[in-house]
Amino acid sequence: MSDCLFCKIAAGEIPSNKVYEDNLCFAFYDIAPQAPSHFLVIPKAHISSVAAIDSENSNLVAHIFEVIAAVTASEGIDSYRVVSNIGEQAGQTVPHLHFHVLSGRDMTWPPG
Ligand code: AMP
Ligand code: ZN
Repeated sequence: MSDCLFCKIAAGEIPSNKVYEDNLCFAFYDIAPQAPSHFLVIPKAHISSVAAIDSENSNLVAHIFEVIAAVTASEGIDSYRVVSNIGEQAGQTVPHLHFHVLSGRDMTWPPG
């Protein structure tokens, strides 16, 4: 999608602090971290949110979760939270599917 911030980050057109990249997904540190370690994992293909996951693209989500497991393990992170906000009321500000991976501090439940 031409006017999408995260499409541009995944394509390297906007700089980011990259954590991981392969042909299907891209991971980078959040510009406004909400925990000592806070990175985002996104598909390179434009998907607007979890609400747009279907049988045609759900393989990307499975892949992203494999990547989350592998990257956290390689960084020695053994406790973390994975969050995806869907829609305005839930706090989604960038309309490109992304999974927040937060760690390094005690977390509360329920989330705010
Ligand atoms: P959400 O509010 O759930 O849609 O998450 C979007 C996240 O993207 C927020 O945590 C922002 O801090 C983060 N963000 C926005 N712009 C950038 C950027 N240029 N580089 C890294 N993270 C960003
Ligand atoms: Zn996009």
